[in-house]
Amino acid sequence: MAPVAPRQARHPLSEFGLIRTLQRRFPSRDNALIRGIGDDAAVVAMPAGRHLVLTTDLLAEGVHFDLRTASFEDVGYKAAIANLSDVAAMGARPEHVLVALAAPAACAAPQILQLYKGLMAACRPYRVSLIGGDTSASANGWFLSVTVTGTVPAGSALLRSGARVGDAIYVTGTLGDSLAGLQLLSRRRPMAATRLPPADRRFLLRRHRRPLAHCRFGQLLGTHRLATAAIDLSDGLSGDIRHLCEESRVGAELHTAALPLSPALTAYAKAAGTDPAALALQGGEDYELLFTVSPANLRRLQRAAGEPGRRLTRIGVIQPKSFGIRLRDASGNLRRLPVTSYEHFRS
Ligand code: ADP
Ligand code: MG
Repeated sequence: MAPVAPRQARHPLSEFGLIRTLQRRFPSRDNALIRGIGDDAAVVAMPAGRHLVLTTDLLAEGVHFDLRTASFEDVGYKAAIANLSDVAAMGARPEHVLVALAAPAACAAPQILQLYKGLMAACRPYRVSLIGGDTSASANGWFLSVTVTGTVPAGSALLRSGARVGDAIYVTGTLGDSLAGLQLLSRRRPMAATRLPPADRRFLLRRHRRPLAHCRFGQLLGTHRLATAAIDLSDGLSGDIRHLCEESRVGAELHTAALPLSPALTAYAKAAGTDPAALALQGGEDYELLFTVSPANLRRLQRAAGEPGRRLTRIGVIQPKSFGIRLRDASGNLRRLPVTSYEHFRS
């Protein structure tokens, strides 16, 4: 869209030049794409028997990322993963990406291209192609809005609302690693950083900078109807379990001792003198999948999903709504789960 009052400051890379460069650097090889970058809008052929899934995420500099601790490539990568992970949590196959960008007038072309490099590195393993976007100057920092589309067999999208009392609660992977990586970057716990073995430090930083989206596993859960409900862990388990429970009108009992922790997180928590389970409950941006499975499907889940290298952990059980959301500790005591995960507009 044209701005109301055109800014005089010129981008070192013109808007037109950027669009040309993107077209050349990230060509689409997608047969369903009738028209990609270069027209007024993209045109995509709709596969029969599938539903369209759409998600968008907005990242604002200073709120979602800090250019003192994240490179442009990191920012682009994580913006894409946040969306791909949402598509994964719907049990859908990601297909296309659109990118809206507002950059400070003084930004340099290589910064924008680095951002796209990270973004498309996240998309490539899933064959997601760039089909459009919008570009603007910003009077106040960077803004990056990424939209990903996907498709799912009609009627098999995994919703947050399908959990039933008695369903087992599962997560993929390990929890809290990304938060530990962020704390290492922001030097919030300098002692922990110096005491941590370098391999653990590298692992946690990688989990923070290059998380993966569980797109294939999400599709497996959806197409085989193995899960009754699913959500991806973007804000942190303590908050995200609440979203799933609210949508399903149920409660949950989580078992502290069952939370899957990486050896690196355990080492970090020890060095930092904090509780690793607290990091696992609070930590955002792990992009693991949290899902519920009916007792009748537990054997099928093990058979269909128990691949080598794929970690699935049962962390609790769905309870009636009146139970609320509670944590059972190793000695069997129950307490209410506090919300410690990230929330905007919290005073
Ligand atoms: P309009 O003025 O109609 O919005 P633009 O000049 O903004 O058109 O966009 C021209 C083409 O370039 C469109 O296909 C649009 O999707 C694409 N495009 C613009 N900015 C970006 C961007 N930052 N990333 C990817 N594609 C872009
Ligand atoms: Mg435009």
